[in-house]
Amino acid sequence: MNHLEFQYEEMEKIYAQNEKLIAGLLKDEKVQEYRRLMRLRKQYKEKMQEVYKKMKFREYTTCSHVLIKTKVEEGKREGRIATRCGCIICGLNEAALDVENPTYEETVMAEYLKSIRPRVLAGLELDITCNLPIAEGIYASVKENNPDVTKEEIINLFKIALVSGYIEEETPKVKTKDEDFDK
Ligand SMILES: [Zn+2]
Repeated sequence: MNHLEFQYEEMEKIYAQNEKLIAGLLKDEKVQEYRRLMRLRKQYKEKMQEVYKKMKFREYTTCSHVLIKTKVEEGKREGRIATRCGCIICGLNEAALDVENPTYEETVMAEYLKSIRPRVLAGLELDITCNLPIAEGIYASVKENNPDVTKEEIINLFKIALVSGYIEEETPKVKTKDEDFDK
């Protein structure tokens, strides 16, 4: 028997032993319960994602967007910065179209953005450039303390925040694919 044949036979033995152990484990009640729970988890995750998508589509459709600009770095041409719009109320962000490995939330955003015609976000534009999550946070806390705040008041507040340096221009992190916007 040559070296390779010997090596193969040894591996075969270990493999067969392993198969036996797996078959034994599958009879175990706890393992069966584990598999049942994993299936349930998968089912519910899918159901939740479906409902999440419907929920977000409705939220994005009914929101009268208040838009700020966010800056994203373009992947292909290094150092080139592109501007995208994002809503401080519902969090919808055009930058979701640029993400290379999107989360489920970003995938839903991108799907929604691709479904609207024309493919541009319409709403009140604040002409402010900053990080969207920070802007969303400011809006949410203002709204919480003063539920009747008007859009004009929000705009003034953002202007003050910008002038006072409370909002800083974001550091671009997301890579972009310009063609998504040019189509
Ligand atoms: Zn919105």
